[in-house]
Amino acid sequence: MTDKQAPVKDQLSQPFFDAAADGKLSVQRCDGCGALRWPPLPSCPECRGRETTWIEVTPVGTIWSFVVYHRAFQKSLRDQIPYTVAMVQLDEGPYLVGRLEQGERKPAVGDRVTAEFLDLDGVPTVRWRLA
Ligand SMILES: [Zn+2]
Repeated sequence: MTDKQAPVKDQLSQPFFDAAADGKLSVQRCDGCGALRWPPLPSCPECRGRETTWIEVTPVGTIWSFVVYHRAFQKSLRDQIPYTVAMVQLDEGPYLVGRLEQGERKPAVGDRVTAEFLDLDGVPTVRWRLA
């Protein structure tokens, strides 16, 4: 197991990271049926179509679920516990999983969140913050 916090970029996910570096949130849209999806996949789970276009989506959504980690599973996270990971449903529909920045208010299912973009060890990264 690596101790890096940054997500792994690969050919499939590169457009997501390129957009995040520009402060934009992007997901794949199936050219066949129009379904939006995240995480990136080589084919559409709805119609199995392989043609895809990356589109920018509104970086706003609603917390569908979340978990608060009280144990660090990587050494680099020891000084960050407790931290929160949320599953966010974007207003456009897809679900994204990511860290939720801890504010003074405790999160709740149904809370509105906005994406923030930061550079983490050289990797453009999306973090969520309560709106
Ligand atoms: Zn499709």
